[in-house]
Amino acid sequence: MKIRILPLLTAVALTALSACDGGETYPVDLSIVPNPVSMVGCGKGIVNYKADPNIKTRINKRLAPEEYYLDTHKGRIEITAGSQAGIFWARQTLAQIEAQCGEDLPGVRIHDKPAFPYRGAHLDCCRHFFTVDEVKTFIDILALHKINVFHWHLTEDQGWRAEIKQYPRLTEVGSVRAETLVGHYGSNQYDGTPYGGFYTQDEMRDVVAYAADRFVTVIPEIEMPGHASAALASYPELGCRGADYPYKVQTTWGVFPEVLCAGNPETVTFLEKVLDEICDIFPSEYIHIGGDEAPRTEWEKCPKCQALMKEKGFTREAELQSYLITTVEQYLAGKGRKIIGWDEILDGGVSQSATVMSWRGVKGGIAAAKMGNDVIMTPNSNCYLDHYQTKDPVGNGEPLAIGGYLPLAKCYAFDPYDQLNEEEKAHIKGVQGNVWTEYIASFDHVEHMLLPRLAALSEVAWGPDNRTDYDAFVGRVEKALLPIYQDRGYNYAAYAFNGIE
Ligand SMILES: [Zn+2]
Repeated sequence: MKIRILPLLTAVALTALSACDGGETYPVDLSIVPNPVSMVGCGKGIVNYKADPNIKTRINKRLAPEEYYLDTHKGRIEITAGSQAGIFWARQTLAQIEAQCGEDLPGVRIHDKPAFPYRGAHLDCCRHFFTVDEVKTFIDILALHKINVFHWHLTEDQGWRAEIKQYPRLTEVGSVRAETLVGHYGSNQYDGTPYGGFYTQDEMRDVVAYAADRFVTVIPEIEMPGHASAALASYPELGCRGADYPYKVQTTWGVFPEVLCAGNPETVTFLEKVLDEICDIFPSEYIHIGGDEAPRTEWEKCPKCQALMKEKGFTREAELQSYLITTVEQYLAGKGRKIIGWDEILDGGVSQSATVMSWRGVKGGIAAAKMGNDVIMTPNSNCYLDHYQTKDPVGNGEPLAIGGYLPLAKCYAFDPYDQLNEEEKAHIKGVQGNVWTEYIASFDHVEHMLLPRLAALSEVAWGPDNRTDYDAFVGRVEKALLPIYQDRGYNYAAYAFNGIE
């Protein structure tokens, strides 16, 4: 019987919380993003709040960890939440109320609870490098939108950005490219200027602590076996072409055939030692191991890779990819960590404990969910924030982008559960927006791509069922978030507010 009594008590507790202390409730004209589970006007508000900014906070373990209630109806501010994170998210809501009401707050009771435990945003600091201060501003923006994961893309063909003490050449050599492509892919014009930058381990620890203070988890990404030109330029013996081949840090964008040699045991040693240091810096449960866009043409010709295939009885090179990822996954499991990889890790088979990040549309995510793997949905159709925001980028004066067309409305309309049955839906752990930076050289430009599209993805991640119609959403962003963007000097894109699609 005990098992039945507990949920009953919980239900009673929650009912008590959601009533307005027996008082009358009424609709209230207030804009909150993401739109909360519920919001009612009740009781009296608070006059001249700034004169006495007294906030009473309370943890109620019966609530979900990030769930919160924000009350202003008793003449003071009260926050009740499942954890400190919930209290922090309630404070972000309070900032939105202050932004539109000033010092005199209306009497309200707001209840919210995120639909997804993983609400992420990714920043590519390799194609272009962003300073620690800029990365911290990125984290501030995530916190404002109640996004709780920062996916930090740290290694690429065009630059290795994470200091690794056991492999110093990764930053001595791998963090600098000779020059950078000018204009769009295929222009064949280069700027002739070396470009580089990296984060020391102390700096990365500082970022992790800064994020933790804002209830944001940093998940580092170390790419393997592809997007590895910078690693190979530093340590050419790890490539299939061997130590004498003049690998270089790439100066243009795209997918390159040079990948880590899966048949060389030193490759596994290298990855394990790199991950030792990464795990020391980043306490996150998940480590992102990349896995995307790794051509297998070199493996087909490499004696070491072919010998390993023969030894293991593999008939397809895809199985080499699977072997490498699984080896690394097991190593990380020994340290209590789990892997996330791009959806290509499904090729050649993947263990059930790997989380799949579906980026080539939603197909990979659907396939993974059907196999019982956990999934983060980040399809390029709805979540790639490096794409253009209007139909006529030139006419609307948009800065150069990689291409595509992802207006705010399409971010907002994203359905992370599309085509899934109930059992499969349970495997969708979250939603993420990605900012790839081939064509984004300044942090001002990052902000232009991120805002306000991140607000749309935040609302999808907090509560797809709490969404309003699109026009009402845009109106809420204008009231609740624009004043904060302006106050903080964020370079948001205004297209949607001017009716430009
Ligand atoms: Zn090889």
